[in-house]
Amino acid sequence: MKALILNEQRTLSLVDRPRPEPTAPTDVVVRVAQTGICGTDRSVLVGKFPAEPGVVMGHEAVGVVDAVGPAVTEHKPGDRVIINPTLYCGSCPTCLEGHWDFCRNKAGTEVGLDLDGAFAEYIRLPERFIHRMPDGMDFDRASVVEPLACALNNLEAGRLQAGETAVVVGGGPVGVVCALLAHHYGARVLLIEPDPYRQELCRQVFAHTEDGRVTVHAPDETGLARRGDLVVDTVGNLLEPSMEYAADRGRVVIMGYHSKATATVRPLEILQRGLHLIGAGDYNSRLFPTAIELARWLPLEKLVTHRFPLEEHDAAFAALAPEPGAPYSALKVVLVPEPAGAPE
Ligand SMILES: [Zn+2]
Ligand SMILES: [Zn+2]
Repeated sequence: MKALILNEQRTLSLVDRPRPEPTAPTDVVVRVAQTGICGTDRSVLVGKFPAEPGVVMGHEAVGVVDAVGPAVTEHKPGDRVIINPTLYCGSCPTCLEGHWDFCRNKAGTEVGLDLDGAFAEYIRLPERFIHRMPDGMDFDRASVVEPLACALNNLEAGRLQAGETAVVVGGGPVGVVCALLAHHYGARVLLIEPDPYRQELCRQVFAHTEDGRVTVHAPDETGLARRGDLVVDTVGNLLEPSMEYAADRGRVVIMGYHSKATATVRPLEILQRGLHLIGAGDYNSRLFPTAIELARWLPLEKLVTHRFPLEEHDAAFAALAPEPGAPYSALKVVLVPEPAGAPE
C-alpha cells in the first residue's frame, strides 16, 4: 500500500509498505477514506514535536472496515468508522483509575507519531479504538470528530456553562471547533485571530449561527480585556494575553501544544484576581462517543477546505502554512489515499 512516512530529516516520503493484516484477535484493519492534517503533524515536520523516524504519520482518520480478527464482535467489513487515535493500555496504575489519557504506557502507542498512522491506504488498530459512524454522517464531518473530542475535553475542564462568555484564542481549525462547541453549549463566543484571511474564513463558518453569539476579533481590538468567563488558548503560547482576556475569577485553559513556549506570569495577579489556570491535555477516550454524538449537531464539514492525494503532501502542508504575508486559504486540509476510488 501507499504510505507517507517520516524521514530522519523530518520530511515526508511516499513509500510502498506491506498492507496490514489483523495480527491480534481483536485487530481491525480500516481502509482509510481520508485523514485530516493536524497542527501536531506540522509541528513534527518543523521540529517542535517529537516523533519516531520511519513511522507512518496521520491520526485524524475515517474509513471503511476492511478486515477483522476472529475475536472482533462490534465491527464487520464494510462498516464506516471513525478512528480514535488516543490509545491507552488499560492496565497501568493511571488507566486502572480511569485516567486513560494519562496512560503510562504511551511510548510506542502514539498513532502517527511512534505507531503507524493513517496517511496511508490502510491502518490497523485494536477494536476498542474503532467507532461506527452515525448513519447519514459524511466523511468530512466525521474526520473532524477527533479535534472535537479535544475541544470537548478542554471545554469540560474549563467548566463552560450556558450564558457565559468564552474567549477562544486562535482561529485555526482547533479554535473554530472550540467556538462551534462553545456556541452549542449556549455560550457567547469571542474568537480571536490576527490574520485577516483567517478571520474571514472564521466568519464564513459561523454565518449559519446568525444569532450574533459568535463574533470574530483581532487581538488588538479594544474591549476584549477581562471578558472571558472561560478563555481557551488554542495556540499554546499565548498565556499572557489569555490572562488579560479572562474576567476576574475566570478560567484559562492552555490547550495548544507548543513545546517551546514559555510565559511570564505574576503569581500575585493569579491569586488577587482569582484566576484558574487549567491544563487538560487531549481527551479521555470515554469522551469519544460523546464527541461522535455532538458531531451530529455541528456543521464540522465546513472546516474542510482542501483535499489532496497522498502524492501531493508537500502542497497539502503548504496550504496549511502559507509563506509570511501570503493569504491563509485553508482551515482543515485532508489527505485522501485513493482520490478516484474513495470508499463510499
Ligand atoms: Zn490531531
Ligand atoms: Zn495505561
